[in-house]
Amino acid sequence: MPLKSTVLARAGRAAFAAAIAVSGVAHAVSGMGAARAQTAARRPASRTITVTASDRAAAAVSEPRSKRHALIVNRLGSGRTPSPTVARSSGSGARYPGDLQYHGGKTLTSTQQHSIYVYASTGCSTVATCWGNPDGFLTDLGKSGFIHVTDQYTHQSSNGRYTVGASYHTTALTPLASPLTDLDMQALVHNAAALGKQSGYGHMYNIYLAPGIDVCFDSKFAICYSPDNAATWSFCAYHGSADFADVGHVIYSVEPPQNVAGCSVKPGTPNGTMIDSTNSTLSHEVFEAITDPDSNGWWNSTNSGNLGQEIADECQFRVTIAQKTFGDTSSVKLNGRAYATQPEYNNTAHACTLKV
Ligand SMILES: [Zn+2]
Repeated sequence: MPLKSTVLARAGRAAFAAAIAVSGVAHAVSGMGAARAQTAARRPASRTITVTASDRAAAAVSEPRSKRHALIVNRLGSGRTPSPTVARSSGSGARYPGDLQYHGGKTLTSTQQHSIYVYASTGCSTVATCWGNPDGFLTDLGKSGFIHVTDQYTHQSSNGRYTVGASYHTTALTPLASPLTDLDMQALVHNAAALGKQSGYGHMYNIYLAPGIDVCFDSKFAICYSPDNAATWSFCAYHGSADFADVGHVIYSVEPPQNVAGCSVKPGTPNGTMIDSTNSTLSHEVFEAITDPDSNGWWNSTNSGNLGQEIADECQFRVTIAQKTFGDTSSVKLNGRAYATQPEYNNTAHACTLKV
């Protein structure tokens, strides 16, 4: 089941004050083809961000009222393969237990994707070595037919509505208590949104955490991304939204390292496990944020075995190989490049698909 939660964490987080130190090192995106390097060059370079006390104060107000939705970690033996297949009702016509229902809220009809890269004090030091090329993936996804699976939910159909925007980074993130929590994630997002003056449904912030960094929902430290602590390890990633008094409504996702057993895709994908695991989970969160940014958009509210699931949850297939459970992706070309990613639930087709 997906975790849906109204955030419980409260203030009293003085332990995290002054927690994030930042260096001025710019992290260049490397390992790109020439064409993509040109695309990157046209965008402003990655900006260093430094979380301040005022960011933390803003997050302390927004956090208890915010919404989150998590991608649950795959465990050995938990290999439920969702089956949004056709079932016949006893009455008239077909019944489609996988279909998503609309709950009256907003969708993201046209949105720039901004990245916030969080480096650890040791380990990888470039986007390419920590995560691959998520901006390249999002650029290709935004130009693909795959993204148009969302059209039926946003009621838009034109091309080019989902693009890549600004890039931010922070390093040497050293909280006084750990792991980090969603309150820290919201402080980061608040800082970037205020700096770039970009908020609302036209913008989404994806926070990428470097290997070695854990994150929990709140200061109970009970529901976490924590591959090093099985007792609390609950999710691979999540998306959410927050309301800040000054910068307004902000959509974001938190993308911890996905190249770990329980979150990674099956071996043998076109770009290697690290890159394709990062991208498949990123696509999961981006599709869900587009169709259900505030947990009151499109999700399955029928008592069909898919209750509470969003567009990507229903199509997060799993496969167990050599006693490890992986995400079972499909091969797809996005804007002409080969990727491996999970499909998404398509109400029109009543199935998980990679195209309209
Ligand atoms: Zn999900």
